[in-house]
Amino acid sequence: MRSTHVIKFLFIIALAFLGIPIISEELIARAGGGGGGHGGGSHGGGSGHSSGGFSGWGHSSGGFHGGSGNSHFSPWAAAIILIVLLFLAFRLILFLQKVSSAMSTTLASNENKPFIKIDTLKEFQARNPDFDLSEFLQKIRKAFIEVQTSWSDQNTNRMRRFITDGVYQRFNTQFKMMKLLQQTNPLSNIKIGNIWVDKIEQDGLYDIMQVGIEASMDDKFVCALNHELDEEGLQSFVEFWSFIRKRGVPKKDIYDSDKCPNCSAPLPENIGEVCKCTHCNAMVNSGEFDWILSEITQKDDYCSNDAFSEKLGNLESTIHDMVSVYGDFSVQLVEDKASNAYMQIMTAKAMQDPSVMRRFVSDELFQLLAPKIAMNQEIFNRIFLNKVTLIGAQKKENKNILNFAVICSIQRVLVSNNRLEVVDPDIMTTEEVIVMTRDALAGAGKGSIYQHTCPSCGGPVKDTLDIKCSYCGSLLNSTENDWVVSALMNRSEFSQYYALNK
Ligand SMILES: [Zn+2]
Ligand SMILES: [Zn+2]
Repeated sequence: MRSTHVIKFLFIIALAFLGIPIISEELIARAGGGGGGHGGGSHGGGSGHSSGGFSGWGHSSGGFHGGSGNSHFSPWAAAIILIVLLFLAFRLILFLQKVSSAMSTTLASNENKPFIKIDTLKEFQARNPDFDLSEFLQKIRKAFIEVQTSWSDQNTNRMRRFITDGVYQRFNTQFKMMKLLQQTNPLSNIKIGNIWVDKIEQDGLYDIMQVGIEASMDDKFVCALNHELDEEGLQSFVEFWSFIRKRGVPKKDIYDSDKCPNCSAPLPENIGEVCKCTHCNAMVNSGEFDWILSEITQKDDYCSNDAFSEKLGNLESTIHDMVSVYGDFSVQLVEDKASNAYMQIMTAKAMQDPSVMRRFVSDELFQLLAPKIAMNQEIFNRIFLNKVTLIGAQKKENKNILNFAVICSIQRVLVSNNRLEVVDPDIMTTEEVIVMTRDALAGAGKGSIYQHTCPSCGGPVKDTLDIKCSYCGSLLNSTENDWVVSALMNRSEFSQYYALNK
C-alpha cells in the first residue's frame, strides 16, 4: 500500500514537473473560422503533431504506473527506477523538442516573427508612389475590428463594403447556420498584437497583399439547442488576410467613409447581397477603388503545402494566357467565385432549398444534386472554408474549365424537437473539387449571378428555381458571360475525371 502511494505521488510530481498536458485543447470558432482550421486537425500543421506526440507519451507512462502498482519492489527501489526512467524520458523530450524546433525554424522565421519583405515592398512602392504603408495597415486594423464586431452581431452590414462577394457568402452561410442552431458567439477584449505585410503578389491586373495578423480575444460560444457544444476561453492566433486591389487605380478610401467612392452618394445602410451604389451603380467592393478583403486563412493552412491543393499540369502558362485574353481574369477573383458557389450549394443543402443554388449550377449538376438536397436533414455546426485553390484548367469544346480544390471544415448535426444531435463527433475536414465552366468567347456581362444580377441585361435576380431572367428571358446559369459550376466531386472521382480531360 505504502509503495503505491509513494509511486503515485512521485508520478504526479513528475507529470507536473515535465508539464505534460492532461487536458486536450478545444479550439473555438470565430470570424474566419479558427475552430475549423485547427479543430479538424487532419491536415493541420506542426501544432497538431506535437500535441499528438505528447498525449502518446502520456499513455505509455499510464501503462507503467498501472504495472508497478502490483509489483513487490521496495518503495525506494521503485523510486530509483522511476527517477532513472523520468530522467531518460526528460532527455527524450528535450531531444524531440530540438528536432521539432529545427524542423520548424524555416517556418517560424517566416511567420512567427512579423516582418515585411522590404524588397518586395520597395518594388511595390516604386510602382505605386502614393502607397502609404502605415495608412494601409490602419485600414487593416479597422477591417479586423469591424469583422470581429460583425461576427459577434451575426450581421454583415458593417463590413460589407470592403469584403468580396465570396467572403460575404462565407459569413452569410455561417450566420444562417448559427441562427438555425440558435448559436451566439460574442467576442470581446479584442487585442491586435501585430500586423505586417507578409507577401505582395501580382495576379493579372490586380495586386494582392497578404497581411499577417497576430491577435487575441475572449471567445464565448453558446448553443441554445445543445449546451454540450458551448465553449469559452481566450484565443490567441495568427491569421493571414488577403486584400486585393486593381493595379494603378486612383486612391480612394472606403474604410473611413460610408459614401460611394465613385460618386460620393451615401451608401445604403443594409447593403446585403449586392454591394452596389444605388446612385451610380458602381460595385464598391470590386477592388477598383480600395483594398478589398478576399480571404482569411489560418496560419496552419497558409503554411501547409497539402498535396490536394497542388497545381496540376501547366497551370501557370494557362493562367498567363487567360490574363492576356480576358483582361479581367484574376486567380483570386475566380477562387472567390468558386467559394461563393460552394457556399451557396452548402446553404441550399442545409436549408433544403435548391433555389438558393439553382443559377450557380449547370442543369446536369442540378439534376444530380437536387434529390440529395431534398432528402438532406443535416445542418452544419461550423462550416468554414480553409482553402480554395485553383489547381487545374482545361479547354474543351470552346469552353474554359477550371478545377478548384476546396478544403472545408465542417461538423454535421441533426435538429429534431428543438434538440440538436451531433452526427460527426468532431469537426471534419472534407476535400472536394468544384469545376467551373465559362465560354471561351465570354465577354464582360452587364451583371453577374454572384452579384444577384442577370449577366445578360443586369436586371436584379432573386433566389428562384426559374432560371429565366424575368426581364430579358435569358438563362441565368448560362456559361456565356459567367463561371457556372458544372461538377462537384470527391478526390478520387476527380483523379479519374482529370485523367480523362486533361
Ligand atoms: Zn455611386
Ligand atoms: Zn436579364
